Amino acid sequence: MKHFPIFLSVEGRLIVVSGGGEAAIAKLRLLMKTEACIRVFAAHADDVIRDWAAEGRLEWVNRGFAAGDAKGSALFYAANEDDVEDARVAGLAAVDGALVNIVDNLADSAFITPAIVDRDPVTVAIGTEGAAPVLARAIKADLEERLPPVLGTLAKIGKAFRKTADALPMGRKRRDFWADYYFRKGPLAVENDGVEAVRPALEDLLNDHLNRTARVGHVDLVGAGPGDPELLTLKARKALDAADVVIYDRLVAPEILELARREALLINVGKEGFGPSTTQDDINAQMVKHAKEGAQVVRLKGGDPVIFGRLDEEIDALDVAEISWRIVPGITAASAAVAGIGQSLTQRGRNASVRILTGHDMKGFAEHDWRQLARSGEVAAIYMGKKSARFIQGRLLMHGASAETPVTVIENASRPEARVVATKLNSLSTALDDARLNGPALTLIGLAPRRAAAIAQSLIEKTAKEAISQ
Ligand code: SAH
Repeated sequence: MKHFPIFLSVEGRLIVVSGGGEAAIAKLRLLMKTEACIRVFAAHADDVIRDWAAEGRLEWVNRGFAAGDAKGSALFYAANEDDVEDARVAGLAAVDGALVNIVDNLADSAFITPAIVDRDPVTVAIGTEGAAPVLARAIKADLEERLPPVLGTLAKIGKAFRKTADALPMGRKRRDFWADYYFRKGPLAVENDGVEAVRPALEDLLNDHLNRTARVGHVDLVGAGPGDPELLTLKARKALDAADVVIYDRLVAPEILELARREALLINVGKEGFGPSTTQDDINAQMVKHAKEGAQVVRLKGGDPVIFGRLDEEIDALDVAEISWRIVPGITAASAAVAGIGQSLTQRGRNASVRILTGHDMKGFAEHDWRQLARSGEVAAIYMGKKSARFIQGRLLMHGASAETPVTVIENASRPEARVVATKLNSLSTALDDARLNGPALTLIGLAPRRAAAIAQSLIEKTAKEAISQ
């Protein structure tokens, strides 16, 4: 972030603009939304500016900007549409101590003006550091559509009611009240009976909330998916939105944690490689403690919590403590991995079942029904299979699997940094040694990336044809 967004207090302060043409007018339209005193310096001012001056909406000084004119001002805009003149006035204004912006000159500006969605007092500022104005405009248009015009009115009425609402204890009770107002009761009151109905509705709502009994804690066991935030379910997003406490694993991508409510307490119980860094008992204890205190807890796990997520141990702990819980499933790594190579986990005529395996368990490398797995056409998705690759390779070959069995390892499936290692069973461990993967990786036995599979198939057909024609 080269530019840090802030909201500057400009009430009653001076903002100076140098220039009297189109560029100045565009900036003035924005500036006139504020409660600042605006002074324009221009020897030649457009009629629009003269009219605004006549209406008392700004002050127009009928001459070019000179040294000392920006003294005491909060902001200064050089908007002369003339590089030489802009550089001259910007230099003078900086000496006067103003923060300087030169219109359409990012490099020489001390600040930039964002695209603005105005629902005063709710203001959304959008900036792209000059990289993509088109994008900023598109986001603005999207937000303009999404935020109802009445939002500003609701916020104003809400603001005047803040002191009264302090009757509710700080924390979740108060937050619930405001959420209820902004997203349910407020808009409903305006829609049914107009703006006048909002204040009485707010009073009713407060009474209602004051008389409510304490909310009980609850734990949502939520799948965060394989990493791409867009692969989060809507239910998971809603749970994150409502969470007071989020207890998350190492595999959960930072972009997903960003979606948690800003006030939420985030607790990292990350498990590193082999062996946990926070014990399962500690994790259980954390969930129980926060839920007992009345918190809405999200236990956020990579992928789908129902797959290699030690879900049952957590549920048992919650049941013992008599805490209500719910499972919100997610997209598991195997689904993301096959999607990444254009394949499916099952295929008519190839495999009617798929095995989901772990490369290691409590005792070390995990044993499986290798004879079954070694059969041609079998597909297995191996979780936590990186370190055990050599072991798995040896076991499968020993039980008669073809050395040519396709094996694909997908690291960081669904994330921008995803990598695919496509190999054969007999070279699995050397291919992995060479690839030096260090992110989470899923091993698919019996599957090649679709394009490679297609090429291999066409080669087989070709050799067959050649054999026939000879
Ligand atoms: N509950 C999770 C699995 C947890 S076990 C799920 O449903 O996906 C952790 C293992 O999952 C990792 O060792 C790795 O094998 C796999 N994994 C998780 N995220 C992955 C990703 N984005 N890409 C590849 N493998 C992943």
